[in-house]
Amino acid sequence: MAGIPLVDLKAQYATIKTEIDAAMARVLADTSFIGGKEVERFEQAFAAYCGTPGCVGVGNGTDAIYIALRAAGIGAGDEVITVANTFIATTEAIGQTGATPVMVDALDDTLLIDPAAIEAAITPRTRAILVVHLYGQPCDMDRIMAIAGRHKLLVVEDSAQAHGARWNGKRVGTFGDFATFSFYPGKNLGAYGDGGAIVGRDPALLARARMIANHGRKEKYTHEMEGVNSRLDGLQAAILGVKLARLDDWNAARRRLAARYRERLAGLPLRCVTEHAKAEGVYHLMVVRLAERDRIEAAMKAAGIGVGVHYPLPLHRQPAYAHLGMPEGSLPVSEAAAREILSLPLFPELADADLDRVADVLAAQFRSSAEAAD
Ligand SMILES: *Cc1c(COP(=O)(O)O)cnc(C)c1O
Repeated sequence: MAGIPLVDLKAQYATIKTEIDAAMARVLADTSFIGGKEVERFEQAFAAYCGTPGCVGVGNGTDAIYIALRAAGIGAGDEVITVANTFIATTEAIGQTGATPVMVDALDDTLLIDPAAIEAAITPRTRAILVVHLYGQPCDMDRIMAIAGRHKLLVVEDSAQAHGARWNGKRVGTFGDFATFSFYPGKNLGAYGDGGAIVGRDPALLARARMIANHGRKEKYTHEMEGVNSRLDGLQAAILGVKLARLDDWNAARRRLAARYRERLAGLPLRCVTEHAKAEGVYHLMVVRLAERDRIEAAMKAAGIGVGVHYPLPLHRQPAYAHLGMPEGSLPVSEAAAREILSLPLFPELADADLDRVADVLAAQFRSSAEAAD
């Protein structure tokens, strides 16, 4: 039997090929490769989609975080509170500004940042909270914004996995001072190369972000400051424009498939990562937690099922962060989760029959372990 991949970008391209090919041809004919009207058009469309006054396209989602923090004046001597159970891009961007990432634990049910832990980690040097809407699930923005308000902290939403997700009916990206997005190909809204964006509430801060992303430029050869070269290109913008029109349908398909997984997996000795009652997640990943994860992960892969682990080692235990001096046991929820999480195949084009087969192969793993124990 053919395998079932974790994500299938070819299946998606097949559904939009005519429009994508036409959009690319348009950019080629126009030779508007960097900047230009496709980028402007996409920035406007994405800001409108998010419900924010503006959007700045950048080179990738990591740069988006770095540039947003820098635009807000975060730098050496500052502390930024974030999580350890995320992709390293989140903390890398903090480090690039010269600030120190302060990693706190996650909540056991949602695996999202624990608001009480944020409050406990605040020091006189804390300047910002960088929340991650992990797996496409929005963080508790009511509690987070209340903490930020009390302590006058900046809030940045790393929304790289959560394009279109809603908290309390409002899209992620509309709560914090800035929200950042990645358009890495496998994300819910993915380009055909690298890309990213920053959205925000304050046009002056967005203008500053745009300047940093483009060599600190005010005019072509007038540089207000040293910036970086991190721009969304015309081809990616044109591709993203085609895909943005379908994002809500694709997210709805992911939600329907996630609900089917929940149904099919009910009764097995595992738990699905919880969706908060106020959240409408977009299921970038379908994550379950189970004992004997390594054995089951290997067996699923051997059966041709594309499972993954996001992520196997929390960042505070990575060699790159040895200098933070956070021993095993510092963040017990994140550490336990890293041993138990397994991401199952989930993409909008996944057929019900294939999802059912994933569920059956997973269920069979528990039967075989029960037999082995007899
Ligand atoms: C993908 C991702 C990023 C970084 O995005 P790139 O476009 O690959 O630089 C940042 N944060 C999270 C949580 C991500 O999943």
